[in-house]
Amino acid sequence: MTFEALGLHASVLKALTESGYTAPTSVQEQAVPAAIAGRDLLVSSQTGSGKTAAFMLPALHKFALAGDAPLTDAGRTANQEAQSARSRGERPRFKAAQPKMLVLTPTRELALQVTTATDKYGSFMRRVKAVSILGGMPYPKQMQLLAKNPEILVATPGRLIDHMESGKIDFSQLEILVLDEADRMLDMGFIDDIEKIVAATPASRQTMLFSATLDGVVGNMAQRITKDPMVIQIAGSTNKHENIQQRVHFVDDLSHKNRLLDHILRDETMDQAVVFTATKRDADTIADRLNIAGFAAAALHGDMHQGARNRTLDSMRRGQVRVLVATDVAARGIDVPAITHVVNYDLPKFPEDYVHRIGRTGRAGRNGLAISLVNHAEGMNVKRIERFTKQLIPVDVIEGFEPKRTASAARPSHKPGGWKPGDARSAAPGKSAPRTFSKPGAAPRREGSSFNKGPRTGDTGARRSFSDR
Ligand code: AMP
Repeated sequence: MTFEALGLHASVLKALTESGYTAPTSVQEQAVPAAIAGRDLLVSSQTGSGKTAAFMLPALHKFALAGDAPLTDAGRTANQEAQSARSRGERPRFKAAQPKMLVLTPTRELALQVTTATDKYGSFMRRVKAVSILGGMPYPKQMQLLAKNPEILVATPGRLIDHMESGKIDFSQLEILVLDEADRMLDMGFIDDIEKIVAATPASRQTMLFSATLDGVVGNMAQRITKDPMVIQIAGSTNKHENIQQRVHFVDDLSHKNRLLDHILRDETMDQAVVFTATKRDADTIADRLNIAGFAAAALHGDMHQGARNRTLDSMRRGQVRVLVATDVAARGIDVPAITHVVNYDLPKFPEDYVHRIGRTGRAGRNGLAISLVNHAEGMNVKRIERFTKQLIPVDVIEGFEPKRTASAARPSHKPGGWKPGDARSAAPGKSAPRTFSKPGAAPRREGSSFNKGPRTGDTGARRSFSDR
């Protein structure tokens, strides 16, 4: 299958060639023609599958056919009024932006990623402007962006509602609504905001919903907001991530975990890595420690201002940062093809977050390695992830970094199949030659203070707390 066969407009095809894309991914193959035909879509596809292009290419195609998203009458009048006010030396009155397309995303990072992808896919169109409307961004800057009456808004729900309520956005001309990672938005408690936003858009709109799962609450919402949708299931959240090698390393204590982390990050096959921690404080502390140890590391978490988060991600994209130490807030928004390693310094609280975390590597058809550093009390959490992904995660032991307790003692039985050390499914032991910077065979030290003594800071509360991340 080629992009030409999908019937896309020449300007979009040119941008795809320029991006080096040679063929559509499966989700694009199915979603693009249906979306061009005007169908509503419910899509369940894995992270990194090319879903952004699956909804953005048909939208850009539509705008290109319509003559690069000509301004609406209201938008044209607003611009003319603003121009004549300026020529009279007056400050133009603010007119509400009237976007034609809205993409809602759960996180700021994902919104920026979608906006960047849109700029790329629309780079040969004469006039299509996409802007991000995000929490954490200064209001005056956003007002300037909205004053340009962009065709495409990519937004997180909370900040968008603020602008809607203050009359800065009018959705009466909206043609396409996309809910990206809808399950995650609902998880984060955005249901009321989403309902409010959807209610402000015309019933005639085309709606495309992307989610890891289409069951439960997401399914109910999807039914309410779509009309006769085409359902596309590429792979559920239990997808195999076949290009990502997964491993568990058992650790005895914090010191053992830190030494192992340093060892993994010195792997010469590592290009760039993301290390996931449970708390913002740990992300900062570990990034500082890694910097002192000579790694080009940086932290990324929800306490940082948007500007700092963007700068960090840019440095990661440019390769200046090699190790990003992040909380789950960053799990879905990072798309850097050079990420070869993902390390779960702490396991995620929810198995679905494991899938999203490891999806930061192995992007755009490359291979990746996902390593979880697990203490012996966390065997159940690993099992929960395995049950969710329907895959066993092999346990690996690196010479010189052997845990004091054997993995089999930590995970005595495992159904179905049961993992055993030496099992054929076990990963080949990692690079076993001990490195000079570590102490081969060093005796594990006493348990670290925050280990095995109850939850770590920020780990309390069964429900995810977004502000914690
Ligand atoms: P997404 O799932 O939208 O986050 O995309 C994951 C990655 O795949 C991004 O780096 C895209 O640039 C890349 N990508 C998307 N579609 C294609 C394609 N047809 N061929 C090659 N790479 C693609």
